[in-house]
Amino acid sequence: MSVDFHFLNVGYGDCTIVHWPERTAGEKVKAERIMMMDLYHHEDNDEYEDVIEYYKTHFRDEDGSLKPIFRFVCSHPHQDHICGLKKLFKDSEIRILNFWDNDHSFVPADFDGHETHEDDWKTYKTLGGDNSPATVIKTERSEKPRQFWDSDGDRIIILSPSDALIKHAHETEDGTKRASDKVEIDEMSYALSIQVNSRSVILAGDGRASPAWNDILQECKDDLGSCAVLKAGHHGHDCSFHEEALKKMDPKIIVFSNSKDEDKSNGAKSDYKRVCPGAKIYKTFDGTVIVRVPFKAEEDISVEVL
Ligand SMILES: [Zn+2]
Repeated sequence: MSVDFHFLNVGYGDCTIVHWPERTAGEKVKAERIMMMDLYHHEDNDEYEDVIEYYKTHFRDEDGSLKPIFRFVCSHPHQDHICGLKKLFKDSEIRILNFWDNDHSFVPADFDGHETHEDDWKTYKTLGGDNSPATVIKTERSEKPRQFWDSDGDRIIILSPSDALIKHAHETEDGTKRASDKVEIDEMSYALSIQVNSRSVILAGDGRASPAWNDILQECKDDLGSCAVLKAGHHGHDCSFHEEALKKMDPKIIVFSNSKDEDKSNGAKSDYKRVCPGAKIYKTFDGTVIVRVPFKAEEDISVEVL
């Protein structure tokens, strides 16, 4: 029995689905859960995964009904992380029960360059708004209690954002408030560590080495050591490569969620390889990557590339 992590091949963008099975822990029954972190939905593009079709194929109950997304985590609302949100929310019949958003004042400067961006942004604002049909969770590292995510068995540790990163995203160094379209929303991305007994899978957001990973390393050192699988920060860009943090994590499996073009221009593969020579690196442009992390620590982690 394992927790399964699906890193979807979505080109330049992100979509990770985490699937916890129903299981028992002592006397307790822990519910099956599905979490989706970010979304980049392609239709009519054979090269990439159609996220909604993928979900409908893989996440149904025995009677054929669609399993709900227990938790949708929007790491940060840049276009490459929310593309297709309207389609998912309005047209897919897939329910979203909890919606994780960031507490921010960011508004994109324009909606140019992508046909569904404005609609996806509006849906994003609805899902994170006061009248959201989902339970909205805007949280950060220091906040407690964390009843939505660690008292029921999913064991998610929030590495980022912190108060300091949220402040950094909204203010320049001299304390001047940034204009709404200049808020550095990627620096306050969610970065999560998902514990599966003694091992963890770290899902990094788009935060850069400085300030985001400096902050994580300084404040969460003890939470990095159990890392077995790392989804590399910012699609594997060199700007998010942090040597010391990577050494501390020392993952055995590293996943780059990126497109081939991005890999050529920004990929930090050689840096990751140098610091973690024993690690196996997978890239979503080679296909959707499924990583299965067994609850039993003596069982090996398995990887399948679709
Ligand atoms: Zn991104």
